[in-house]
Amino acid sequence: MSRVLIIGCGGVASVAIQKCCQVSEVFTEICIASRTKSKCDDLAAKLASKTTTKITTAQVDADNVNELIELINSYKPELVMNIALPYQDLTIMDACLACGVNYMDTANYEPENIDDPEWRAIYEKRCETEGFSAYFDYSWQWAYRKKFEEAGLTALLGSGFDPGVTQAYCAYALKHEFDQIDTIDILDCNGGDHGYPFATNFNPEINLREVSAPGSYWENGHWVEIPAMSIKREYNFEEVGPKDMYLLHHEEIESLAKTIPGVKRIRFFMTFGQSYLTHMKCLENVGMLSATPINYEGKEIVPIQFLKALLPDPATLGPRTKGKTNIGCIFTGTKDGKPKTYYIYNICDHQECYKEVESQAISYTTGVPAMCGALMLLTGKWNKPGVYTVEEFDPDPYIEALDKYGLPHRESHSPALVD
Ligand code: NDP
Repeated sequence: MSRVLIIGCGGVASVAIQKCCQVSEVFTEICIASRTKSKCDDLAAKLASKTTTKITTAQVDADNVNELIELINSYKPELVMNIALPYQDLTIMDACLACGVNYMDTANYEPENIDDPEWRAIYEKRCETEGFSAYFDYSWQWAYRKKFEEAGLTALLGSGFDPGVTQAYCAYALKHEFDQIDTIDILDCNGGDHGYPFATNFNPEINLREVSAPGSYWENGHWVEIPAMSIKREYNFEEVGPKDMYLLHHEEIESLAKTIPGVKRIRFFMTFGQSYLTHMKCLENVGMLSATPINYEGKEIVPIQFLKALLPDPATLGPRTKGKTNIGCIFTGTKDGKPKTYYIYNICDHQECYKEVESQAISYTTGVPAMCGALMLLTGKWNKPGVYTVEEFDPDPYIEALDKYGLPHRESHSPALVD
């Protein structure tokens, strides 16, 4: 019996909301609140006859802490699920602290305005001391640890697939398969085809910022940064086939480097087709990926936001996308003194997702873990005061929930390794 406030009603949130409504014995009441209330109302109307979960809706600007506090105090939820954008992480965490409510999200904090001098000064110092230059990192949210501990509240960070499930896979491997993990390769393959020359599978602004940034990996206690897309490998993915994949910086590497004792190397690879990369390079070269506002005929526009308006809405890709995703982690290490390898992964079919929730697999593979993370918090399985990433909790009930609600894991004890 729980009352949950869900902020955001985009591609990922609409899957998470539908999954919550499938578990109505736990999610008895939800309020969907977002910037555009009509989207919340449309989804609520679509779900009304299909669930016993009582759904209400609200309009909120999640950049505004006072508006959030007013909404949280009037709805009185046990948990706030932040499935808006990473830009809103800190304001929503502040509001949760002010109202004494647990918090969770699917991606770590990133500022919307990367030219803000105050933020920039801290960022540039971090680039120097830490050795990676991504605009997002955990430091902003880890800074809330003491406040959440003192308030007796839990904040769960990054309960999507990657970050999220990939970290649970690491915790699971450490708990059940290894005494010592030496290397982790996280492999994110999207074998889906939507038929457009160029489109992104989730929020274009967040997605394009991520993939056009320098890549980096963790090795022997420090970050190694490389130019964007400069390390390429081919991997033969089960039920997808051979794909080119590229080494990217990814947020879970930062937490895993701290939470997996003695790990020597952590890398993240994502598959991209040549057409996607050519389009992206061209857009980058002409300045369309810039987040710095320009003045155009008397109006200020942000190029990447304008590009977002031109590209297909990721939420509309569902009916067109065919093929499968295959995402997981390959480990090397030792068990009982002997060397060992292990691969744990999930395969998800775009069309099956569409049949179930009218969405493609990228939103599905993020929305289901968001619901499962909330389930862990609401059923008391993952409650400890403070701010935590997924691998800091017992992976077993989470992976069990993922198995049950649409993302079953598979494993191999003799995987092909990435060189
Ligand atoms: P969308 O752009 O589809 O949806 C974002 C939603 O947030 C929209 O409903 C939007 O409202 C709302 N929103 C944006 N700004 C505000 C605001 N100031 N106040 C209130 N609501 C706001 O994004 P996605 O669904 O693709 O992504 C959602 C989150 O999931 C992101 O944080 C993304 O980084 C993360 N993600 C995580 C993954 C993982 O594996 N961990 C993978 C993919 C995504 P409006 O309709 O008005 O625009």
